Amino acid sequence: MGDAVQQFFAVKAKIAAAEREAGRQAGAVTVVAVSKTFDAADISPVIEAGQRVFGENRVQEAQGKWPALKEAFADIELHLIGPLQSNKAREAVALFDVIETVDRDKIAVELAREIARQGRAPKLYVQVNTGSEPQKAGIEPRDAVAFVTRCRDVHGLAIEGLMCIPPADENPGPHFALLEKLGQEAGVAKLSMGMSGDYETAVAFGATSVRVGSAIFGSR
Ligand SMILES: *Cc1c(COP(=O)(O)O)cnc(C)c1O
Repeated sequence: MGDAVQQFFAVKAKIAAAEREAGRQAGAVTVVAVSKTFDAADISPVIEAGQRVFGENRVQEAQGKWPALKEAFADIELHLIGPLQSNKAREAVALFDVIETVDRDKIAVELAREIARQGRAPKLYVQVNTGSEPQKAGIEPRDAVAFVTRCRDVHGLAIEGLMCIPPADENPGPHFALLEKLGQEAGVAKLSMGMSGDYETAVAFGATSVRVGSAIFGSR
């Protein structure tokens, strides 16, 4: 068994333990295996081990490896977890099954246009900049609920979840709690939060998916 496969099973076991500890249902949390910077040869063994949900943060990089992997393996669910430029909306709608980084009206307009044009509708999450970091993508927490409503009512987009990336140097718990609260207020069921360093904490705070890269594939 290769390193990535072994580490993948270790992550799955830790998630299962965190689910039990938090009194959550077994299997309540989906692992999004973040494969950015890794190539098809690194990714394939993890698919063969049973994993189907993957995350990439760049549209162009994903286009280089995922069309062939999606051909080769059935039921892949590919998540876009990096910032989306409006000029990449067409490619993103064509390739991704979940787009987690909707964070402004301009992107919402482009996505709605492409979904209508292509007849293909990826699931959509709104990214929230829970730490209000100027360099980070995501909508401000105070604007998040109104933006989700606007996506539905003005842009005709069904938003299924929220996503956040807490500031690297802060305790993530309060950020996860804030995302959970905003999800309740906005009436969305999915919460994408937690990465290699803090996914067990995120499970305790109600994550429905965690995005785990280096703990599975190794350092980048
Ligand atoms: C890279 C990345 C991850 C995974 O990070 P690790 O610390 O390697 O698990 C998760 N979410 C986003 C948005 C990322 O860009």
